[in-house]
Amino acid sequence: MSLSAKDFDGLIDRKRLIDRLQTMVRIPSENPPGNEAEVASLVKSYCAELGFDTSDHEYEPGRPSVVATAGSDPPALCYCSHIDVVPAGDPSLWDADPYGGDVRDGRMHGRGSSDAKGPVAAALEAIEILKAAGIDLAGFQFAFVADEETMGLKGAKPLVEAGLLTAPTVIVGEPTSLRIVRAQRGPCWFRLIVKGVAGHGSAPERGVNAIKHMAAILLHLEETLPDISHPVVGGPSINVGTISGGEKVNVIPASCIAEVDRRTIPGEKIEDIEAQVQVAIDRARERFPDIDARIEIPHFGTPFEVSLDAPVVTEMVRASGEAQGSEAEIIGFRGSSDARFFAEHGASVCVCGPGDITVAHTARESIDLDELERGAIAYALAFARLLER
Ligand SMILES: [Zn+2]
Repeated sequence: MSLSAKDFDGLIDRKRLIDRLQTMVRIPSENPPGNEAEVASLVKSYCAELGFDTSDHEYEPGRPSVVATAGSDPPALCYCSHIDVVPAGDPSLWDADPYGGDVRDGRMHGRGSSDAKGPVAAALEAIEILKAAGIDLAGFQFAFVADEETMGLKGAKPLVEAGLLTAPTVIVGEPTSLRIVRAQRGPCWFRLIVKGVAGHGSAPERGVNAIKHMAAILLHLEETLPDISHPVVGGPSINVGTISGGEKVNVIPASCIAEVDRRTIPGEKIEDIEAQVQVAIDRARERFPDIDARIEIPHFGTPFEVSLDAPVVTEMVRASGEAQGSEAEIIGFRGSSDARFFAEHGASVCVCGPGDITVAHTARESIDLDELERGAIAYALAFARLLER
């Protein structure tokens, strides 16, 4: 069957799409602390109305993720998006009620409207469209997950690791303005721990100053960042996020700890990062031979890329382009998303959705309702074609 965006024009129900998004936006599901239960139950009821088999999975009490499957076949295609939102923050910074779901000037305003309840609503509407068009949905699966905004460790990650989301092809819904993300950098968060020897601040020669040694290492960290680049995510980066050390102004500090956010590009491995940090330590030792430093890497999120000719990319690009009436752009994520958990388990994954990432997490968060509708059409086309393959 050859489908086109036009086939779906009469099947989309704009009012249902907007009403569902508004209902979801009006339920604050802020993370932290993680209040996904009410919106999860709503989304689960939408999936049940679509005839899906649904189940809840909690990796922290009161914080369910919903998995919903059409038919009894093993899933061939999974659509995953998140139902938590970042906190609205100070309401006085907002022009609109952050949980009002106000519609004006063709946009819905509020926390989560773009990130990522807009994509969730569009994907639900896509399935409504396909059902109305009589398309066989067997093999399609939804995962509406908790905890994406604090790294997915209580949502997508354990679901994938438990073998509950095994589809070989995955579309992750995030606000990308309907551009297609085919590569993502990986967050590598490490700690540098420098030891010194305490002593009286009036006699620095009698101790070893851990803060001074840390400063020397940090100056070398940026220069050990490799000069490499990826076509859609660009280069790696490094940011020293926190530093703590010392106890009192008149005491030689015996320890200093810095936390560093290193973002890797596809191809970089944890061993590469360790080796580069070691080079920075070695260079600092040229000046201070008694440096006592080590590195701990509590969190390493793998970067990934999917090839340009992978069906999940080609079909999502084609569908998004047709829904928008112009060529869809292929991009990379310099930040992170749940897509990495699927990539780590060998799935072919891309990220795409309606909504504007530049207003996500701000007091101006909103979504263009025409784009939301185009998102539903784009998803419907991509889902149908990927299921048919
Ligand atoms: Zn998001």
